[in-house]
Amino acid sequence: MPTREEFLYFSTPEKLLFYILVFLSLAYMASQIISRVRLWLQGKPIDWYKTRTGRSYWVPTKEGIQHWVTNIVVFVLGQKKVRSSRPKSGAPMHLMIFYGFFTLFLATTLFAINTYSPIKFHHGNYYLAYEMVVDIMGVAFLIGVAWAAMRRYLNLKSELGRAMVDEPKQLIQRRRWPMSQSANDFWTLGLLFIMGVTGYWLEAARMSADPQPFDWSAPVGHLWAQFQGPFSPLAYKVVWWFHMVWVFAFFCVLPKMRLRHVMMAIFTTAGKSDTPMGKLKSISMEEVEQTEQIGVKFGKDLSRWHLMSLDACMECGRCTEVCPAWNVGKLLNPKQIVQDIRGAHQAGLEIAPAIGEEALWACTTCNACVEACPVLIRHVDLIVDVRRNLVSEGQLSGSSATMLRQTASTSNAWGQSASTREDWMKGLDIPLCRDGVEFDFLFWVGCAGATDPNAVKTTKATAELLKKAGVKFACLGKEEACTGDPARRVGEEFLFQEKAQQNASVFEKYGVKKVVTTCPHCMNSLKHEYGEFGANLEVYHHSQLLQDLVSKGSLLAAKPKRGEVAFHDPCYLARVNEESQAPRDLLSNEVVEPEHAKHKTLCCGAGGGRMWMEETLAQRPANRRTEELLATGATTVAVGCPFCRIMLGDSIKQVRPNDEIKLLDLAELLQEANAASPETYPNN
Ligand code: SF4
Ligand code: SF4
Repeated sequence: MPTREEFLYFSTPEKLLFYILVFLSLAYMASQIISRVRLWLQGKPIDWYKTRTGRSYWVPTKEGIQHWVTNIVVFVLGQKKVRSSRPKSGAPMHLMIFYGFFTLFLATTLFAINTYSPIKFHHGNYYLAYEMVVDIMGVAFLIGVAWAAMRRYLNLKSELGRAMVDEPKQLIQRRRWPMSQSANDFWTLGLLFIMGVTGYWLEAARMSADPQPFDWSAPVGHLWAQFQGPFSPLAYKVVWWFHMVWVFAFFCVLPKMRLRHVMMAIFTTAGKSDTPMGKLKSISMEEVEQTEQIGVKFGKDLSRWHLMSLDACMECGRCTEVCPAWNVGKLLNPKQIVQDIRGAHQAGLEIAPAIGEEALWACTTCNACVEACPVLIRHVDLIVDVRRNLVSEGQLSGSSATMLRQTASTSNAWGQSASTREDWMKGLDIPLCRDGVEFDFLFWVGCAGATDPNAVKTTKATAELLKKAGVKFACLGKEEACTGDPARRVGEEFLFQEKAQQNASVFEKYGVKKVVTTCPHCMNSLKHEYGEFGANLEVYHHSQLLQDLVSKGSLLAAKPKRGEVAFHDPCYLARVNEESQAPRDLLSNEVVEPEHAKHKTLCCGAGGGRMWMEETLAQRPANRRTEELLATGATTVAVGCPFCRIMLGDSIKQVRPNDEIKLLDLAELLQEANAASPETYPNN
């Protein structure tokens, strides 16, 4: 019957030597893992991974185990994030390495179970299928490893070429991957390749020393055996030990190299938070009193999960590849931030100087890095936590500090007085909550929507459409205050909390249950972050409510000419709140798609408080995005966010000063389409 004999030709002392070496190499690996676990345990207990019953996911309850298993199946075994990344990011290469490695690991485990347990199943047809699958997946593994080495070689070559260019030292350090790291990568890939090749050699040596009629079931080893001819038992044992030396070396170096992510990512993904991407963790006054500190200064101020996630980083660079700040030449490099925090924590150093303030303030909190990361690292949490500490220590100056002062004194991020929030309403007969009107939806206007001249056009168009469709809505007018979103993302947590409490009490006063807003940033904050302040609301972006009205026949969808309109997905709508279809439905799906669309959209550069920070012309993410949108040939850019509108409006003037490019909100395009229709639709 087809099968394989364990320890073919091995004497008892040889077997004993093998067990001693396995034990020593695994013990060394375990000691290194324990030292990493000690570093994780210096962090704060994980209090945000709670089940609905309030128990931690780390306690093995039924619900907790379901959570772990689901995440491991989806993100580790299913490689969800890697599969959804672009082939340019090396996705097929990584999948070959992962599934090849996983098959070889599983095969070794099954072989060990067969050898050391009373259950014997390694024979017959199962054995033939096992040999065939392992042989084929081994080839995939080797191709993946060779492909990875080639990618690294080409990257390094282009880096070395660029190193001749005279760039500031700080920029070179942050924007280039260190040479030592590249060398480390080549060692790792070399080790994997040697393990794979010597594995085949071992298989061929066994067949050459002890040929069997079913050897064809492992075609690569079989071919190799035929090529090399007969082997003596001694020659077979030499090849066996040669292969095992590399395996022992692999155990020893695994936790030291970036290859450690194969282990660490299992823990990170298993314990991943269910907190929505757009929700930042609150800080309580009790916490501040206890720690006498706001935000994160040292690694130990982070949660244990965050510290563990730093070790899971596979240094693939997907986060950096999609970062809008990095792509316009800024110092912000999310991959490097992860390494910097990891290094600072290990050395017991402060995090902000390790990262560099310029990089920290460059983040737009667009979450592109979070969305791209295969091991679910939450870069935005890390960055905002460090910003909180800097702000509390008075390290924020310039226009963003002015924005915070304005928000605190006028409840408007642009410093406009409360009464100006009603200026746009003049002559429009807009219902106000304070007049006691009945309403289904609160129309939340937002600071920009109420006071920025272009954003006001969106506000007016939305109000007109809601009226036309017979929606019962009301506004807060001067009782509305900034949601506090820009303050929170800049790092002024307690100003955010003050504004959230102020608005939540107004919602309670008027019994607000449903909210519609034209601003995805307000939408995100009201939907995900206001619950903690007692405001449990149903929140809609205006595109969602308008799309619902179109589907019910209460409004007409716009029908732009083919190729005329490109839609810019706002990060906080498409990526953070997973809505990219409603805007397209409003435009009858007649949009031309730029390179980055839907949840992979490219940020305009306004989020995270960047709207209020100075920007050099060459480093405006909005200019890059505008070029991408206009490269589609569209003559109209449609938007669904007042921040995007402001940023792209300036960029269109800079990028295409002589062209007639229109910039319109979805509501305005819909308003045009409905201009000739009856005043109020009969369905309502
Ligand atoms: S943080 Fe995530 S996306 Fe970035 S390099 Fe590490 S693993 Fe890759
Ligand atoms: S959130 Fe956006 S800007 Fe900030 S690091 Fe991530 S990708 Fe870059």
